Amino acid sequence: MMMVLFGPPGAGKGTQADLLSQKYNFVKFSMGDILREEMALKSSMGTQLKKYVNRGMLAPDEIVLRLVENFLLKHQDSDILFDGFPRNVNQARNLHKIVNRFGLSLDIALEMHLSEKELMQRLVNRMYCPNCGRIYNAATNPPKVEGICDACGYTLEKRRDDDENIIKKRLEVYAEETRNLTHFYQSQNIYSRVNANQSQAEVLKKISKIVDAHIDKK
Ligand SMILES: [Zn+2]
Repeated sequence: MMMVLFGPPGAGKGTQADLLSQKYNFVKFSMGDILREEMALKSSMGTQLKKYVNRGMLAPDEIVLRLVENFLLKHQDSDILFDGFPRNVNQARNLHKIVNRFGLSLDIALEMHLSEKELMQRLVNRMYCPNCGRIYNAATNPPKVEGICDACGYTLEKRRDDDENIIKKRLEVYAEETRNLTHFYQSQNIYSRVNANQSQAEVLKKISKIVDAHIDKK
């Protein structure tokens, strides 16, 4: 089975992806983890990536897609969960093509939905580690020691663009990208949606129902 988990940053995708992987034995494609691994390898791709991550920017599509391809080469025989990827329709189309090339197809595209107000709240509290790229949230996912990265001990920073006006603009971008992804996956007949503004256990229960229904169908 192949499943995509999408939704805005701060919706809790990472946590659900971990819980689902444990429960259903998914191999997880987490863009954050894969970028960190690549950077740790100090490959030429990793060095390029570090420039983006250090500025708190997203990696370019072209590099991202090469990482997906490498991942599928290794894990095409397993059940795979894409966590926070694709982010936009362009990536979704490319993912579709790559997956088809491997003779596979996506089974479920699940949106974790948050209201704009909720999302704003979560984004205002976001911090990242300028050294390893890990992301924290003062409200929902704080580091063990305030202001310090759990993984590498660096001092956390707020993204320069994390003030309310710029966040508002980013929210509009997310909303539009999400709408487009929704339409794309509806047209593929694999779209589902879960309200992410509930406890982790509740969200997991709702997602599990969708996964179970799919397993039963097979
Ligand atoms: Zn760090």
